[in-house]
Amino acid sequence: MTVHFPEDIKSALDLFDMFPDSLLWAGGTDLMAELRAKKRPAPESVIFLEKVKELAEIRDEGVSIFIGAGARLSGIAENKLILDSAPVLTQALCAHSSPPIRNMATLGGNICTASPAADAVPPLYVLGGELLLQKKDASRKVRAGDFFLGPRKTVLEKGELLTGVSFPKPPQGSVQYFEKVGQRKALAIAIVSMAAILTTDSGGRVEKARFAWGSVGPTVVRIPETEAIFEGKKPTHELFRQAAELVKDSVRPIDDIRASAAYRSQVAGNLVLRLLPDQV
Ligand SMILES: Cc1cc2nc3c(=O)[nH]c(=O)nc-3n(C[C@H](O)[C@H](O)[C@H](O)COP(=O)(O)OP(=O)(O)OC[C@H]3O[C@@H](n4cnc5c(N)ncnc54)[C@H](O)[C@@H]3O)c2cc1C
Repeated sequence: MTVHFPEDIKSALDLFDMFPDSLLWAGGTDLMAELRAKKRPAPESVIFLEKVKELAEIRDEGVSIFIGAGARLSGIAENKLILDSAPVLTQALCAHSSPPIRNMATLGGNICTASPAADAVPPLYVLGGELLLQKKDASRKVRAGDFFLGPRKTVLEKGELLTGVSFPKPPQGSVQYFEKVGQRKALAIAIVSMAAILTTDSGGRVEKARFAWGSVGPTVVRIPETEAIFEGKKPTHELFRQAAELVKDSVRPIDDIRASAAYRSQVAGNLVLRLLPDQV
């Protein structure tokens, strides 16, 4: 097996262009488990990304925030800029695995592994995240909702690297929420998760509602009809009830060893009620 340790993005892209069948190794938390379980063949060539410092940057870009694909989940979860602007992402990363895993795992790995249960992904949907994909001689931006094609399937092409994610800063005062329902409080894969952002105007009417659910379909899902229920209206108990019912009837989860489809549908709807304001 040949191993490569590029130290900048350009060298990583050159190597990936030269050896397009290489395995990209970020934190290795998913890959280690897959290789041990023989779910993938031993690779002939591995490109380790850990020395590429540029990939780990977190930047305030004025109206938006950029997070490098190689940023560790623990570093993002502790970052004040992220906590102040995008607490929905902080909450999701604090619910991810355990501190030792979060110290190794990267944002890029959580995205590219393309699990419908990946904790970082629903927040990226509601934040309007765009993923920056780079090849040796080309780059493109893809919206989070267009990146995933199914479980373990993405639009990534041969020789293409996810280098980072950017999203506009949500307006100050927007309500942001993430919750994961699992079999335990720690080290649990989501049975259902939900990320949400509600932005209201000065009169208390909802300008924008964004919800995304994990583990209820082949990819993270949004249900635009649910969002439309709120937009332009003052949030009331009745609106939340309507939205919860709609979600329950719209999602198409599967039965698996962790939960039944019926339970997942019910919980996906119930999670909407977590955003009920006290005084409605
Ligand atoms: C004990 C344990 C608990 C876990 N708990 C959770 C949990 O609670 N929630 C959760 O969401 N996940 C969980 N996971 C899964 C895993 O930790 C995450 O998906 C993690 O974020 C993966 O990141 P990584 O950097 O380790 O990825 P890696 O294992 O290095 O890579 C994962 C995949 O992404 C590809 N990849 C990585 N970086 C890039 C890039 N920049 N461009 C293109 N492709 C890339 C790799 O080639 C590989 O296919 C758990 C795993 C373990 C072992």
